[in-house]
Amino acid sequence: MQLLNGKELSRILKGEIKTKVDKMVENGARAPHLAAILVGSNGASETYVNHKVKMCQEVGFESTLLRMPETVSEKELIEQIERFNKADFIDGFIVQLPLPRHINADRILHAIDHRKDVDGFHPVNIGRMALNQACYLPATPYGIMQLLELYNVDTSGKHCVVVGRSNIVGTPMSILLSRNSSPGNCTVTLCHSRTQNIEKFTREADILIVALGKPNFIRANMVKEGVVIIDVGITRVPDSTRKWGYRLAGDVDFEGVSPKCSFITPVPGGVGPMTVVSLLLNTLKAANKEIY
Ligand code: NAP
Repeated sequence: MQLLNGKELSRILKGEIKTKVDKMVENGARAPHLAAILVGSNGASETYVNHKVKMCQEVGFESTLLRMPETVSEKELIEQIERFNKADFIDGFIVQLPLPRHINADRILHAIDHRKDVDGFHPVNIGRMALNQACYLPATPYGIMQLLELYNVDTSGKHCVVVGRSNIVGTPMSILLSRNSSPGNCTVTLCHSRTQNIEKFTREADILIVALGKPNFIRANMVKEGVVIIDVGITRVPDSTRKWGYRLAGDVDFEGVSPKCSFITPVPGGVGPMTVVSLLLNTLKAANKEIY
């Protein structure tokens, strides 16, 4: 069994980004600039956004964190997005989700200029992804594709089973791995909460991607020998032995399942760090105007 070590790989990729940024600045260009809009004060969102800002500093990016109150109207938020769309000094920006219930997230995502949509959630980018055209990939799927590519995981002709069909992970993963590309060329099965007898599918998987948010959902008897497992799930599980009173758990029973795997991502230290570095890679693409 080999670990797909996202922590280590993201460290290497961040070093490569920093080298490119240093060169850009040496040559007289300005550093890439990522902006984030945070609405309200959701604890988890706050942690994620602060982490993204810290990563920007590590690779030499400029960053802007704009906080808006929980009570902000949809109109005011869209006006702010339009200001960021027009601001030449901002290469890419994100609106941290989830948003308060009175704001329609779809309308917000549509308002972002797709050329600055470094989260890859705009329908133009999703459509281009499906058509195998240049686009910003959503950060988590992009990170998973890099793990598969850089660890030379063979995907062509394999049966990939994806569990979970969210717009940000499961559905894009099912599209990416079924495309005629590398990694890709899999035969893909997409499972969700209405799938009957899910073990029947997971046991047939050569590559199993799990993104549902249920700790230890995948057990050893649900997978075959030699399977490649990507565990996307992150759930806070109460644990009084830890400083913060909880630990992070994936969707896979790592202890029971890992002996059967050829490759597996740990939680934490697998997909999570690759997600953040992918956002930085998208911002670098934006600064270089690679997406039109
Ligand atoms: P989500 O929006 O929470 O949706 C969960 C998906 O799982 C849905 O498609 C749901 O099916 C499916 N599901 C729920 N119970 C199921 C069951 N018993 N059997 C089969 N499928 C079931 O998904 P998400 O946003 O992708 O998040 C999933 C997990 O990944 C969470 O733990 C999240 O924190 C984590 N995550 C991690 C990263 C990272 O960077 N590591 C990034 C994003 C998300 P239906 O569609 O039928 O409801």
